[in-house]
Amino acid sequence: MTRTIGIDLGTTYSAVATSLDGVAEILPNRDGDRLTPSVVAFEGGQPLVGKEARNLSTSMPEDYVEFVKRKMGESGPEYIDENGKEYGPEQISALLLRRLADDAAAILGEDVRDAVITVPAYFDDGRRMATRDAAEIAGLNPMRLINEPTAAGIAYGLDFRKNGMFLVYDLGGGTFDATLMKVENSDITVLATGGDRNLGGFDFDNKIMTHVAAKVLEQGGPPMLFDSGGVEAELRRQCEAAKRRLSRATTTSVRMTLEGKNYQVPLSRATFEEITNGLLTRTEITLEGVLDDAEASWEQVDRVLLIGGSTRMPMISDMIERLSGRKPDGGINPDDAVALGAAMYAESLALGESNATEMAALTVRDVTSHALGTPALDESGNRVNTIIIPRNAPVPCQRERVYTTVEDGQRVVNLDVTEGDDTELDYVTVLKGDNIPLPRGLRRGTRLQVVMAYDVDGVIHAEVFLEATGVSLGEVQLHRENNLTREEVSNYRAQLAGVEIL
Ligand code: AMP
Repeated sequence: MTRTIGIDLGTTYSAVATSLDGVAEILPNRDGDRLTPSVVAFEGGQPLVGKEARNLSTSMPEDYVEFVKRKMGESGPEYIDENGKEYGPEQISALLLRRLADDAAAILGEDVRDAVITVPAYFDDGRRMATRDAAEIAGLNPMRLINEPTAAGIAYGLDFRKNGMFLVYDLGGGTFDATLMKVENSDITVLATGGDRNLGGFDFDNKIMTHVAAKVLEQGGPPMLFDSGGVEAELRRQCEAAKRRLSRATTTSVRMTLEGKNYQVPLSRATFEEITNGLLTRTEITLEGVLDDAEASWEQVDRVLLIGGSTRMPMISDMIERLSGRKPDGGINPDDAVALGAAMYAESLALGESNATEMAALTVRDVTSHALGTPALDESGNRVNTIIIPRNAPVPCQRERVYTTVEDGQRVVNLDVTEGDDTELDYVTVLKGDNIPLPRGLRRGTRLQVVMAYDVDGVIHAEVFLEATGVSLGEVQLHRENNLTREEVSNYRAQLAGVEIL
């Protein structure tokens, strides 16, 4: 059996692990580091990934792409090279994945193809699809996408043989997720999940950057324009480094050289905590929401696991202790847990396929992070969002709801699919669906059954039935306008196959 890997494809850093007989280990990259910065640079058209690429962030800000995970599932190029060739988020991510897999292959001494890749629990259908496409462009076989907190739960559960109710608090570089799960030996059941797609270490850096820019101005320095390429990249670098120092020290300072003059801005942990308090509170509100959704209380939580580099900030464990009355669990490095869990799951899936029995098969039951529904007319004739599958339903799942035709002789029904809880359509994601033809002669008020399903990978399916006969009127083809077509994926895959990534 060939080795499988688990990839934690992070906003700022990524990690790769492999598992043998249920024991997982991180695979260091070619530089010997356990984490690879999730950055890509292009030097004269040549792609570079990781540390080498990061070194170019100040000198070549235009040829440098970072935080691409935040753009997954969105259209539009992230980079245009000197020949006008455009790179979308999937292609940039594919360069990262290819390089991670190449480094894993080098250390394992064999080709690597099969991978479990992790995504934030909060990723919607389009973002998951984009991640899967990126893996395919990279020449990988994405065995399964799993949610990052679930992967962390697997790593903790299997490594320490601990059972109980786990709350995973995952604050990475760009996203925040909170997940409540029950762990019983090899059975992981997620009860509820919630998160914030735009909240991570990056936002804590931004707060320091704004603070430092204001202080430099007070010291008579020039205004720092955040769009002036190299200055912003350098300021971000200095502020991120200061933030990390403040996880150990209680005071530090940020140094910047601007227009040939040196500036030094002192920063204490107390000030840092004060200017970022609003961000911390946002995570607290999400945590309470997750407990509410699972109808659980803090007393029922057996352990709190901290995942993601940003949980090293002391304010996070302080908040957890204040809320839960106990210190968060240590044991696994928060940078490693997600990749380790993904690797264990990859091995379990591969063993399942080969019917081998060396390792207890893992059962992982996750939940939907978004409600699914469709726009329909309410009693007053307003187009609103109606929900068919609620948020936090176990995956895979299938639910149905009955709608009625609005006029005599109606010949088509349009079935767009919505992702999100809000009744107002402006606040949910709408995936365009095809028109489904209806048979002739239906009276107004004819009952149509709409069945929606999430499969094991979190991919959406929708079908319409005539309730009176139970006959299917058609499966809905969803148009994911921001996602790639199958043809684009295979073209990009062929293009990337011949590219050497430094
Ligand atoms: P991840 O996406 O999980 O790799 O998390 C990366 C984020 O963790 C980045 O925003 C880092 O700045 C942040 N981070 C890493 N180490 C520390 C630290 N010691 N203190 C505070 N933040 C950290």
